[in-house]
Amino acid sequence: MPQIRPCVDFLITQKCNYRCEYCSQSKKFYTNTKAASDETIEAFLNFIKTLDKTFEITISGGEPLTHPRFFGVIEEIKKQNLKLTVISNFSYPIENYKKIADIMGQNLKELFVSYHSTQVKNLEEFKSKAKEFNSYKANSTNFSIASVLTDENTTALKELSVFLKENNINFCLQHMRIKNSYVEYKKEAAEFLSQNAAPEPGRISNSFGKLCHSGEKFLLIYENGDAYRCYSSRFNKAHSMGNIKNKNFKLFNGPMPCINSRCTCPKPISYNMLDFKHSNYIKATGLLIKNAIYLPSLMIKNFDILKAKFEQGLVFKKK
Ligand code: SF4
Ligand code: SF4
Repeated sequence: MPQIRPCVDFLITQKCNYRCEYCSQSKKFYTNTKAASDETIEAFLNFIKTLDKTFEITISGGEPLTHPRFFGVIEEIKKQNLKLTVISNFSYPIENYKKIADIMGQNLKELFVSYHSTQVKNLEEFKSKAKEFNSYKANSTNFSIASVLTDENTTALKELSVFLKENNINFCLQHMRIKNSYVEYKKEAAEFLSQNAAPEPGRISNSFGKLCHSGEKFLLIYENGDAYRCYSSRFNKAHSMGNIKNKNFKLFNGPMPCINSRCTCPKPISYNMLDFKHSNYIKATGLLIKNAIYLPSLMIKNFDILKAKFEQGLVFKKK
């Protein structure tokens, strides 16, 4: 089995200073965005002290730099000598990104930023900021720029991709997904995507019953402290690991069977969490039954998210 990359993803806030039309966290669809409280931050910092040093941390959001304790949190991650990836919309002045690089040094594994064409007023400024950060960061830090393709932004993204290639900056062209389905493009965008799409990051059919290390070596923590084994989580009781602020929070001791028929979580897959050779169908069936019992209460608990996704789907249907 390929080597597992242990990782904790902390979505420190749902808040964002952008309003991207394809994001269900955008204020347009979701009015009640929340950020991690001091209590959640303290619980997170105590938790990472218990991790062995092979774990990487990813801080994302929303936009993580909107969180007032963002820099304090990454300083603590550095003190624990853990590696860090930051996912940002790159909307803050360059000094902020240099500060991340200064604090983390060699421990900054990646700065992964996005170009959101409807939100960025000046593409030239964006490009020169990218160039400046690329020459400032440590050699060991990966710097990537992602952008969601739309029919409207194809020309701008073509220009951006040429610039990034010339400057040795990694570009990830993303196929827009609404409610887990890929949108269909007109001819020009479809051609650009087919020539430049990043490889499909991870969709595994027939994952049900297969043993997966998510929950043991991979963990997702939301801004309220709720922890899950992977991204197909909020409506899945069997994926819940409790809340990091409570005594009920606990990592699994070993791999557990997946209860989804199809895994659509790119990161755990690319970090080699799924063990393709081993399975436990009896345990998976038990977990599935548990999940079905809890489903109605999870839907009520996550009503806001369901509503946001439904409204987002409607907006895109109208277009
Ligand atoms: S920058 Fe990211 S989090 Fe913010 S609205 Fe856009 S897609 Fe959503
Ligand atoms: S296989 Fe995918 S969906 Fe299943 S538990 Fe692992 S990461 Fe989650």
